[in-house]
Amino acid sequence: MRLEIHQVKLPLRRVFAISRGAITEQESVIVELHDQGKTGLGEAVKSSYYGHDADTITAALQRIAPQLEAYEFTTPETLWDVIAPQLEDNYFALSALDQAAHDLYGKLHATTVYQRNRLSWRNVPQSSVTISLGPMEEVLREVESYADWPILKVKLGTPNDLEIVAALRQNTAAMIRVDANCAWSVEETIRNSQTLADLGVEFIEQPLPANAPESSKRVVYEESALPIIADESCQREHHVRECDGLFHGINVKLCKCGGLTPAFRMLREANVRGLKTMAGCMIESDVAISAAAQLVPLLDFADLDGAFLLASQPAQGVKLEQGNFSRPEGYGCGVTWDASLV
Ligand SMILES: [Mg+2]
Repeated sequence: MRLEIHQVKLPLRRVFAISRGAITEQESVIVELHDQGKTGLGEAVKSSYYGHDADTITAALQRIAPQLEAYEFTTPETLWDVIAPQLEDNYFALSALDQAAHDLYGKLHATTVYQRNRLSWRNVPQSSVTISLGPMEEVLREVESYADWPILKVKLGTPNDLEIVAALRQNTAAMIRVDANCAWSVEETIRNSQTLADLGVEFIEQPLPANAPESSKRVVYEESALPIIADESCQREHHVRECDGLFHGINVKLCKCGGLTPAFRMLREANVRGLKTMAGCMIESDVAISAAAQLVPLLDFADLDGAFLLASQPAQGVKLEQGNFSRPEGYGCGVTWDASLV
């Protein structure tokens, strides 16, 4: 196998802000995994929270590349078992490589990733679109521009969170979900949950910091008026078990857990445990979104609007229109890209 690594800058449609900062463009690393005349694609992007950027992801992949030259590819899962222990420090790089392995497998064996995983594209959930932080007038303008979207995910963690959601409720009939990105205390969460429930909010994503004591998470889990979904608290596979009894559901992201291989296992485990299942994304191109979209048949909630927030991008894959996914077409993850566009 041969690994090719490309660093790409993805321009955003507009400034994107959450409780931890704001960006106008995204650093991305797109990988091509070549074998037997076919090419698989994968992607990982910068995240200050998780401490990875294009250079650290590239360096980690370069460390693995020589070993892949002599590797005899059979399945993505076998490759993951070989590579994961070597990329303990960089699951973002592991995720890009694993996406490419799934895409490649599908192309070599003429199947889509979701079909290979015994899933069918029926009654799939719609995706939310994310409303970023900003002055109230800007937030309302953004909401207006998403008038046709059935579900909004609102980034919170400001001094006036409840006023923001109340103003949104006045201006939209869409389902509202909120993401506090670790910014609330136990008391705030319980208090806010009641008001947000009255405003018809569906759930709260990650109100407490990821490292909040278990006792705090348990109080929120038991007393919140709304379901609590773990994002920053549910990163890798063993976290699913740890979240059981402390959260009502988990938000799986490929970059956090190290790709599709563990993501399928996490969602299936969550199903067995009775946890709600969600998949999220970073702001990234159709390469990573089309990979994550293979999980959609397993989800209660989808939040895969990452590519929709871009002004332009070099890839073409699974599309989102007014929250509806196009059915993945083509083998593997159903994505193509044009390296000349970067
Ligand atoms: Mg989140």
